[in-house]
Parts: sequence; structure tokens; C-alpha cells
Amino acid sequence: MLRMDGFSYVHAASWPEALALWSAHPEAMYVSGGTDLLPNVKHGLFKPRTLVGLSGIRGGVDADSDRVVIGATTCLDEVASNPIIRAMLPPLAQAAALVASPQIRAMGTLGGNVLLDTRCLYYNQTEFWRRSLGYCLKADGTWCHVVGGPKTCVAAQSSDTVPVLLALNAVLRLIGPGGARELPIRDLFRFNGMDHLAIAKGELLTDIVVPTPGPGFVGSYTKLRTRESIDFPQLGLALCATLEGGTLRSIELVLGAVNPQPKPIRGLEAFLGCSLDDAAIDAIADLVFKQTRPQESIAGDAPWRRQMAAVFTRRALVAVRAAGAA
Ligand SMILES: Cc1cc2nc3c(=O)[nH]c(=O)nc-3n(C[C@H](O)[C@H](O)[C@H](O)COP(=O)(O)OP(=O)(O)OC[C@H]3O[C@@H](n4cnc5c(N)ncnc54)[C@H](O)[C@@H]3O)c2cc1C
Ligand code: SF4
Repeated sequence: MLRMDGFSYVHAASWPEALALWSAHPEAMYVSGGTDLLPNVKHGLFKPRTLVGLSGIRGGVDADSDRVVIGATTCLDEVASNPIIRAMLPPLAQAAALVASPQIRAMGTLGGNVLLDTRCLYYNQTEFWRRSLGYCLKADGTWCHVVGGPKTCVAAQSSDTVPVLLALNAVLRLIGPGGARELPIRDLFRFNGMDHLAIAKGELLTDIVVPTPGPGFVGSYTKLRTRESIDFPQLGLALCATLEGGTLRSIELVLGAVNPQPKPIRGLEAFLGCSLDDAAIDAIADLVFKQTRPQESIAGDAPWRRQMAAVFTRRALVAVRAAGAA
């Protein structure tokens, strides 16, 4: 059995209270559903002296004609089943439904999923396992076993909902010791597996705001993993597009679980105004293949994951073309 080092627990009933509790307790961390943080504490990857619990802060989903606002403490189960999200943002409901298992989706929150730590075969292990290898750069050591050097960590961004939220151009509402601010989710991630989130110490994610997609919106999330349940993605592909009579009016493709940050595909504007025919689909899949460079930090052969990025792109585009024509 893995035991956790001792820590104290304080429960917050509101965002300002959570911030005040964090400020009052040195070496405190926030815990929401705890489905990522607590396994990491058991593995000795984090050693908080206090956990500030966010589960008493109500989540929920609200919408007007311009946007859908999702509270950060909304559990993934609700994100997957909420009628507003299913009707207006189907790829987000799809991605949330593919996270882990029913039990974990009932505990795990959308905010925790956005702020999920990066993952690596040499990092998400017990303290004993990591010590036997001399630890690694991201935790307790000085060397990266993937890159083979002392400087770069390429642990993978592994959240299922993040690629979709990027493709939907979501904006994050944050409050912290420096005040409140809004941050486009595209600016949240850095290419650095040790420090991949551009948020300040103590900052809280309170809401995820998603602009309502326009008429003709089609989209999907496709996940590669070893088993059809429990497993983290070895690759995730989010596609969000707008079709008008078979013509592409907008398109965003974002890959997850390839690098420390999600990977938006560049150069897709060249296809706007084109018919989404087989030639265009092949050309877009080719573009995705060229731009995808999966790291070896997580399970699944990297060249195979790269090939699958193109395969998933082709399948997703064929499916949205059929949905757009229906
Ligand atoms: C067996 C297993 C399988 C899993 N499979 C998947 C999978 O397939 N796909 C996937 O995406 N994830 C997976 N997960 C990871 C995890 O369950 C989810 O990512 C979940 O959404 C995390 O949410 P949480 O509320 O439990 O986060 P927590 O564990 O509570 O927190 C995660 C991190 O976010 C911080 N945090 C949480 N909420 C806030 C907030 N509002 N403001 C500031 N900081 C905050 C915490 O301090 C911590 O650093 C899996 C986990 C397990 C144990
Ligand atoms: S990529 Fe390297 S430094 Fe980062 S967690 Fe893996 S082994 Fe450690």
C-alpha cells in the first residue's frame, strides 16, 4: 500500500476563501477532485503541508447566445452529460466522457483536467521506482531519461479536454494574489514539461468560458489509448470546423498527448473556402503528419502515434463532412 506523508486539510466554501486559506498556509496546494493530485502525493511527487479543498465550491453550466460558462469545479461526468454542453459543444462532452472511468469522472473536475500535471513513464512511478533509477529532472533528479540530458523535460500534456478547449478558443477566468484576470487557453501552456502552466503561484481557475460556435458547426474528439477505459491518451485529436454547403468556413485542429503543450496545427487557413473533398482531406492529413512530433515520454511508439495523427485526422474530417451534409 502507498502511504501519503502527513498534511493538513482545510475546506473552502468560496473562491475568495480558498485564496485566503492558500495565502495563510505555507506550502499549500489546491485539491479539487483529487484524482490526479492524490496519486502524485502518494508517489512523493508533491509534498504539500496543507491541501485547500475546492469541492465545496459549486460548479455548474450557464449559457447565453454568445458563450457557455462552465465552473471549474464541475465534475467531468456533468460536462459529459449536461444538455447545454451536449447541444452546443458536442466535442467537449465527447472528450469528457472519454476520461478515465465512471468513478474518476464523478470525482474529477474540468478545472483539474485543464491544470493536470504533465505525465511521463519515468515520473508517474513510486518513490522507490524513481529512486532506483536516480530520479529524473522533473522530480528530485538532474537528468532526463527521455531526452538523455540535464536541461529539457518533455513530459506530455495528457488532458483529454484541453485540445477541444483550445480548438474552441476557450478563455480561462483566474483569481490570484495579484487579482482577477482572463487568459485565453492558448496562452496557458509552455513547451516545458517541468513548468508547463503559465499561471502564478496560488492562482485559482474559477471558470472556463467557451464562445458559442456559429451555424454549421461540426466537431469531434478522437482518442488513442491501449484500453477503451481508464487509460490516459497516447494521442488526442480535437477537430472544430464550420461547414456551409460542403465548403469549409473555419477549421481548428489541435493534438494532445504529443508534447508538453497541446499542438495546434498551423496553415489550415489555406483550406478556407475550399470544398471538403477527398483531396482536401488528404492534404490536411498530410499537414498534420508533417507537423506532429510525438515525444517518447508516454506509452505508445512515437512513429506510430505520428501515423495515427494523420489517420485520425482523415477519419474525423470524413465524419464531419457526412455530419455537415446531413
Ligand atoms: C487511473 C486514472 C486514469 C486517468 N485517466 C485520465 C484520462 O484518460 N484523461 C485525462 O484527461 N485525465 C485522466 N486522469 C487524470 C484525472 O482524473 C483527470 O485529469 C481529472 O479531471 C483531474 O481533476 P481533479 O479535479 O481530480 O484534479 P485534482 O487532482 O484535484 O487537481 C489536479 C491539479 O490541478 C490543480 N487544481 C485543480 N483545480 C484547480 C482550480 N480550480 N484552480 C487551481 N488549481 C486547481 C491541483 O492543485 C492539482 O495540481 C486519470 C487519473 C487516474 C487516477
Ligand atoms: S521527460 Fe525526462 S525529465 Fe521529464 S519527467 Fe520524463 S524523464 Fe523526467
